[in-house]
Amino acid sequence: MNIDIDSFLETVASEVKDKDVPVVDLIAVQTRDPFKVLVATILSARTKDETTARASKKLFKRAPDRKALRLLTEDQIAKLIYPVGFYKNKAAYLTKLPAALEQFGEEVPDTIEELITLPGVGRKTANLVVSVAFGKPAICVDTHVHRILNIWNYVETDTPLKTEMALREKLPERHWIAINSLLVAFGQSICRPVSPHCDICNLADKCPRNGVKPRKIPGSKRNIDQPLRFISWNVNGIRALEKKGFRDIVVDLDPDIIGIQETKAQPDQLSEELKNIPGYTSYWHSAKKKGYSGVAFYTRLKPVAIHTGLGNEEFDSEGRVLTLEFKTYYLINIYFPNSGDKLKRLDFKLRFNDTLLAFALKLGEKKDVILCGDFNVAHKEIDLKNPKNNIKHAGFTPEERHWMDSFIEAGFTDTFRIYNQEPEQYSWWSYRFNARAKNIGWRIDYFCVDESARKKVADAAILQEVTGSDHCPVQLEYLPR
Ligand code: SF4
Repeated sequence: MNIDIDSFLETVASEVKDKDVPVVDLIAVQTRDPFKVLVATILSARTKDETTARASKKLFKRAPDRKALRLLTEDQIAKLIYPVGFYKNKAAYLTKLPAALEQFGEEVPDTIEELITLPGVGRKTANLVVSVAFGKPAICVDTHVHRILNIWNYVETDTPLKTEMALREKLPERHWIAINSLLVAFGQSICRPVSPHCDICNLADKCPRNGVKPRKIPGSKRNIDQPLRFISWNVNGIRALEKKGFRDIVVDLDPDIIGIQETKAQPDQLSEELKNIPGYTSYWHSAKKKGYSGVAFYTRLKPVAIHTGLGNEEFDSEGRVLTLEFKTYYLINIYFPNSGDKLKRLDFKLRFNDTLLAFALKLGEKKDVILCGDFNVAHKEIDLKNPKNNIKHAGFTPEERHWMDSFIEAGFTDTFRIYNQEPEQYSWWSYRFNARAKNIGWRIDYFCVDESARKKVADAAILQEVTGSDHCPVQLEYLPR
């Protein structure tokens, strides 16, 4: 089905007319200053608009222009822009920006080719600056633009860069400048990355809804035949993710239980809001060492018991395992050790793995067993982008993969591969080299089940559109009866 893009964008414009304008557009309208637009755009990457707005305001008060920015140290900039995502990296970029602008006569350049030579400026930022600050035709492809245009089947692309190239061929130029702000506002409010609000969307009758699982209509009761939704997510620091909207993400994801890993926090370091998301009870197992490892559950199902750790102090002091026991099944949340630099912790990891396997098999004698978490291993070549280059690296060593073989031989199933045999299905991407945008990743987060739980699996998926961590969540739908 071909959509009528003029009519779709017109509907979107009317849907978002009362919504907040994306912060970068707002700064452009308020200041008409390309320098401020450029700086705010750098700050806005992987950061909520409210946080970008607050950080920009603080920074522009001290450094309203290039000359004033040059007088600030990297440390001062970092303090001013905290807590935007990757504030240390962004502070380093902004420290170098005044000198980098010298080659352009101390002005912000107005072409994509020139802008991408500046520190911290990728193609998306450059397109945004060209269109918003200079009003020149450019197509900025934010993750919302890429995602929504694929939902509409207007493009069929797997990276934002390919979407930009497809739009340059196909999208009438009159829409180039506006499409980013429209679809960002629409993606933040209605066509949200997880559980879009199709029930209130004026495009619902015409939208192809490619790959979409709409939200449960608020207030509706779960059907008894409807599977439970379990989610697992390595959050890479729950306190940092809280600032990026963790609570809203959980509400959107609408899980019955979410297990998180790498919380990097003790319970006394958590805000009451974080511990008490409405409708959920949370349970935590933290490492003794502060800011390290840690797992937790949020559940709206009441467990009959909670089991902390593996009963082995060597491993339990690192806060790696937490188990919820229900009437017919156990759900084990695990943060497997990383083998580390030069594989220094490979032996520790293999001992942990064997202890964990024995623990799961023992539980399996009583009830069904589901395991979820960051296994810190890509099992097969299909599970990472560059298998040949990583044979000797943590997470893809023969020893770790061999353990995964033995885990599967012991009767456990990697649920994602029941439904999906495709390559390039990843759950973790390095923060470096723009790896997520290029989909250079690894699949190291799993839901696995034992033989008796296998019959009750209804679906499994990777939720790649959910951002906020270097991992994305993975999901299992499960019918316990
Ligand atoms: S109908 Fe649903 S998927 Fe389609 S645009 Fe609206 S919210 Fe997005």
